[in-house]
Amino acid sequence: MTAPLNHLDYYRLPWNYADNGISWLEPTTYCNLHCKGCYRSQVNPRHKSLDEVQAELETFKRLRRSDCMSIAGGDPLVYPHIVELVRRVRDLGWKPIVNTNGVALDYPLLMELKRAGVYGFTFHIDTSQKRPDFQVETETGLNDLRLRFARMLGQAGNIACSFNATISDHNLHEIPAMVRWAGEHARLVQTMVFILFRSPSLAGDFDYFAGGKRMEMTSLYEEPEWGGEDTLYAADAVAQIRVADPAYEPAAYLNGTARPDSFKWLLASRTVYNGKVMGYMSPRMMEVIQTGNHLFAGRYLSYARPRATRLGRLQALAGSLFDRGSRRILAAIGREIRDRPAALLQAAYIQSFMIIQPVNFEADGRQDMCDSCPDITVHDGRLVWSCRLEELNEHGRFLETVPHGK
Ligand code: SF4
Repeated sequence: MTAPLNHLDYYRLPWNYADNGISWLEPTTYCNLHCKGCYRSQVNPRHKSLDEVQAELETFKRLRRSDCMSIAGGDPLVYPHIVELVRRVRDLGWKPIVNTNGVALDYPLLMELKRAGVYGFTFHIDTSQKRPDFQVETETGLNDLRLRFARMLGQAGNIACSFNATISDHNLHEIPAMVRWAGEHARLVQTMVFILFRSPSLAGDFDYFAGGKRMEMTSLYEEPEWGGEDTLYAADAVAQIRVADPAYEPAAYLNGTARPDSFKWLLASRTVYNGKVMGYMSPRMMEVIQTGNHLFAGRYLSYARPRATRLGRLQALAGSLFDRGSRRILAAIGREIRDRPAALLQAAYIQSFMIIQPVNFEADGRQDMCDSCPDITVHDGRLVWSCRLEELNEHGRFLETVPHGK
């Protein structure tokens, strides 16, 4: 039984609506897979023209500063202008991050994207998908596919590699296997993201209204039962990570818009050296990195190059001047070198875990969204939550929730 987390023990990421680590661009709603936890409708999919996407980029430029631009969808690799789009995103000053299921990725395309300036990939791989070329029933079985992509990026060189997985009752118990696997491949894998499944059927007993008119809420998902019976919270994922790594300790978070003590984004970074975990980054060190990056680069940091994440020893050494957590990591590295001198030749890798807990509903109907939403996108010239675009597309506005019968 793990102790409940207290948000005041951690660093509240300084990201906000106008100045954030991430922004979110969707050039297409076409996808070449069906994921049971996907919230984007596949009815009438379409590719946006490059001119439309350019207009969205200009809206971002006008309204919001961010470190990287997540290029998502649909699957962005089926977008016919993806290489040109990555180049434009890079030329406009963002780090282009391609969020893909990877089905359409081969090495020649990867090299084309690298030449265009791609900074990183976030691969969505989990057991909610039916993959044409890789049919396994467990997350452990999918680790082989994850490794295939991680090696492909490693071969291309210095491209950030992240994996995300939608988590429900169905695969919650497999988080420890994913965490162990990530530790074994810390040289290739920079980040693991666990996104907790959400569906109106899990929200509770609410009525939905669009501008005062009651709406029938039907599930977007064809197989909503994959989401299970229970609403999962960040603490559920934390408990599972600690099964694999009892030392796990978050450093930073984003709270909710309704609840200051909810963990909508929960970030932890560990140092892996000689195949072992040396310790977790402290909230103080995370604060130094975020504010230092903003001071010197003008942006809050979201993604780092593998070249930088290999500098775990240097980071621990520099941090030890002012941070007790870094001193502990440095001491653990020192002990490892003392006991196994051959480790001296190895790099120490910094690897992150992010847990994302999408919308929750308060008993009075308030919706607890991610305060300072990083995955904000452009819709009709406005910045809006990307997780709720379907409401705008179908009803022209976000839905209000009211406890049933009130
Ligand atoms: S509010 Fe929605 S779109 Fe924004 S970060 Fe949270 S889940 Fe993602």
